[in-house]
Amino acid sequence: MGTFEHPEFAGHDRVIHIADRVTGLRAIIAMHDRTLGPAVGGCRVFPYANEGDALSDVLRLSKGMTYKNALAGLPFGGGKSVIIADPSAKTPELIRAFGQAVDELAGQYWTGEDVNFGAEDVEILAERTPYVLGRTKGSTHTGDPSPFTARGVFAGMKGALEHVFGSDGLTGRRVAIQGAGHVGFNLAKLVTEAGGEVVIADVRAESAEQASDELGASVVPPEAIYDQECDVFAPCAMGATVNEQTIPRLKARIICGAANNQLSGPGAGQLLLERGITYAPDYVVNAGGIINAFGDFTGSYDLNDVIAKIDAIAGTVGKILDTARTERRPSHEIADAMAEAILAAARNDRVTAALR
Ligand code: NAD
Repeated sequence: MGTFEHPEFAGHDRVIHIADRVTGLRAIIAMHDRTLGPAVGGCRVFPYANEGDALSDVLRLSKGMTYKNALAGLPFGGGKSVIIADPSAKTPELIRAFGQAVDELAGQYWTGEDVNFGAEDVEILAERTPYVLGRTKGSTHTGDPSPFTARGVFAGMKGALEHVFGSDGLTGRRVAIQGAGHVGFNLAKLVTEAGGEVVIADVRAESAEQASDELGASVVPPEAIYDQECDVFAPCAMGATVNEQTIPRLKARIICGAANNQLSGPGAGQLLLERGITYAPDYVVNAGGIINAFGDFTGSYDLNDVIAKIDAIAGTVGKILDTARTERRPSHEIADAMAEAILAAARNDRVTAALR
C-alpha cells in the first residue's frame, strides 16, 4: 500500500524515507500537523517485520504527538521517526547518519528519546544536529524525561480521582502499575509517598522486586495485574493492553498510565464507557516529559514553570472527563476533539492575520 493510501496518512504533510548507503540506515520521519510549530516527537528503534509496519507505527505516533503537544499547550506540531533496525545493530555511525537526515530538515522536525533510543543516543545525534530535545549535556540539558512523565501521570491520576470520588487524595487508594520501568517505578514512588498502596508487575522480575524492596509495593505476575482489586490501573509498559480481553477483567474505576496508545482501538473506549471505567487519555497524562524538554527548544529552563505546567495536567484531565460525562461519550474522543479545536482556532487566527 502506498503512503498516500494508508488509512493513517490523513492529516500528514510530510513523510520522508531515509536510506543511507554507507551505514545501511533505513528510517522514516513523519510530520503530521505543523499548525502550532515544528513537528516534534522522539525516535523509535524497532526491528519492524516490514516497511508497512514501520509506516503504520510512525504515522499513528506522529498524529498522537500533534494532539499531545496541542493539549499540553506547547508551540509544537506532531512528528515522529522510526529507525528500522534491531536495537543491537544501533551503532553510533547509524545514529549519526540519522542525525544528518534530521539536520537537513533545518528545524522543521525536532526529535529525542523513545523506545530503544536513550539519553546516550540523543547525545550522539546532537553531534550532527541541534534539533534535539532531552539533552543530558549542553546549556539547558533537560535530561531524563521519565520522572517528569511520571509526575504528569500522577497529576492526571489526581484529576481522575477528583472526578470519580470527589477527592484527589491517595490515602486508602490502591494503584495497579503494569511495568516497573523508568516511568512506572517513579510513579510507584509518587503514589506511595502520597499515602497510596501500589501493586506492580513487570516481565523483568528484578524491576518489580526493586519496587517491592525500595517502596514496599506488592508484586504480582505480569498476567495477574489485570485482576487486581484496585482503584486505578496504570499501564506503564506497552500499548494496546486495554482491549476486549482485558477490560472485562479490570476491577479499577480509573485507567491512568504512561504507555502510548493504551486502547487497542475505538471499540475499547466505548467498552470502558459502558462498564463505567473512567479513562484518562494516555497522550494527555504522559506529556510531562515533553513539557520538561521544551527548555532545550527555547534555550532557557525554569523548573518551577515546568512543574506548574505538568501539574496543570490534573485540570485538563478533569475538564475532559467532565465533558465526557455530560456528553456520555468516550473520553478519548473528547480529548481528540479538544485538540482539534485548538488546531482549528490556530488555523483561523492565521487566516485572520493574513487578511489583515
Ligand atoms: P521502560 O522500558 O523503562 O519500562 C517499561 C517496563 O515495562 C520495562 O521494565 C519492561 O520490562 C516492562 N514490561 C514490558 N512488557 C510488560 C508486560 N507485558 N507486563 C509488565 N511489564 C512489562 O519504559 P518507560 O520509559 O518507563 O515508558 C513506559 C511507557 O510509557 C512506554 O509505553 C513509553 O512509550 C511511554 N512513555 C514514556 C515516556 C518517558 O518519559 N519515558 C514519555 C511518554 C510515554
